[in-house]
Amino acid sequence: MAGDLPGEAVQPIALASATDWAGFRTQARRLLAQSVAPESVSWHCADAVLPDLFANPPEAESTNLPAPDKSEPSAFHVPAEFITLCQSVILHSDPNRFGLLYRLLWRLVHEPALRHDPVDADILRAQHLAQAVRRDMHKMKAFVRFRPVQDATFDHDASAGPLHVAWFEPEHHIVLAVAPFFMRRFTQMRWAILTPALSIAWDGSHLQQGPGAQKADAPPADAGEQLWLTYYQNIFNPARLKLKMMQKEMPRRYWKNLPEAQFISELTAKSSQRHMEMIEQATTVPARRLPVFRQADAAVARQAQAVQAVQPLQTLAALNAAAQQCRNCPIGEHATQAVCGEGPSQARVMVVGEQPGDQEDLRGRPLVGPSGQLFDRALADLNWPREELFITNAVKHFKYEPRGRKRIHKTPSQREAAACAPWLEGEIALVRPAVAIALGGTAASSLLGRHVAVMSERGQWFTRPDGLRVLVTLHPAALLRAPPDAQQDAYAAWLCDLQQATADVTGP
Ligand code: URA
Repeated sequence: MAGDLPGEAVQPIALASATDWAGFRTQARRLLAQSVAPESVSWHCADAVLPDLFANPPEAESTNLPAPDKSEPSAFHVPAEFITLCQSVILHSDPNRFGLLYRLLWRLVHEPALRHDPVDADILRAQHLAQAVRRDMHKMKAFVRFRPVQDATFDHDASAGPLHVAWFEPEHHIVLAVAPFFMRRFTQMRWAILTPALSIAWDGSHLQQGPGAQKADAPPADAGEQLWLTYYQNIFNPARLKLKMMQKEMPRRYWKNLPEAQFISELTAKSSQRHMEMIEQATTVPARRLPVFRQADAAVARQAQAVQAVQPLQTLAALNAAAQQCRNCPIGEHATQAVCGEGPSQARVMVVGEQPGDQEDLRGRPLVGPSGQLFDRALADLNWPREELFITNAVKHFKYEPRGRKRIHKTPSQREAAACAPWLEGEIALVRPAVAIALGGTAASSLLGRHVAVMSERGQWFTRPDGLRVLVTLHPAALLRAPPDAQQDAYAAWLCDLQQATADVTGP
């Protein structure tokens, strides 16, 4: 048996990269077939050097290895869980991981009882490494913090949106393994994650990899981050502080790259004092619920009040500027900006959506994200130029719930929609459209001042007390959420609804 004799040469095996699973598998099979014992092998890997971040990754190749002999027996039966374990362990930064895995493979083949031994030291070690890798992957998903950069692509075509760049320092070789998670989660966004060993970039359709970077290569904090920090400080609840749990979830080694971590020491130091203050404070009386959609009279009064409130605003630009300051409800505090309507100031048709989404909030324009793209497609199918429409939303600020770095859309409450009504009514008073199209329930309720059951009232016209005719139809997001096999019919029905407005405005 090769390598069994004292003094026999150790075979060096070079793998193409630190995570060369295919190379390891091929070589392990070959060594096993040639009965090369684990102690006679030394494993090495060299990471391929990539020219720059946007270069294509070279084909992985194993160096200085004889090609595997096709005649060699290669069918060693190992449990499927062992393969899964190897695929995790190989991502660990422990330089001895390949040796450990080959030793385990060798032992599984030569010691059949091993697979039933739950306390074997090699198995325990491998499981420990796999767990550390899983933890590191989880932390990367949770702690990557993107910052937007207006790069050359953005300068050339602003509709591409900014490049979001993040710096992260993983403990193990996990970056490529975690990349699919970010590709799925931020599919529509252009992003790059820089790490010391490797960088990856997503352009909306392709993932590219490049060499490692330095922290200074990542952009500094931006205004959006300042908002996040304010939010973090505000949601920090001293009564809920469980320091040990927090440090387990957010280990200290990640703090240096987490902007919000700068507050942890101060906030935790003050937590017991703030907790006592919370206890001593008198109980608060819940705010009285505003009866928002009571009856038609109330709607008329509300519209009149709202118009009065914004009456001094003589232009859409003045209304827009005033809306930026609006804090009539809590949403405005956390949005990037108020997104008011856009389009001709004397448009005959006003389209009213629900509220800006993530992209609208960042870009300051209504209906430009995924819902807007579907709406644009409908306009194209109807041969109706977007430039002829005044497009706006019932609610002017983006309401969301932060989840990691993602901002999850939240439907505005009736109260919030009511608080925003003056801005919409102000736009109606200034533009004086002939008709309005309400996209979805929030828009329809805001325009008509009552609850609207969109599914049963869609495709119908309603006339407001001020004479404005309102066509109710679905919000494009409802079509995007429809099951794939129902989407075509739903889209066709939506076009029929919208067509009524084109006919109304451009008809005979
Ligand atoms: N959804 C809306 O209703 N409006 C927007 O502007 C974007 C998404």
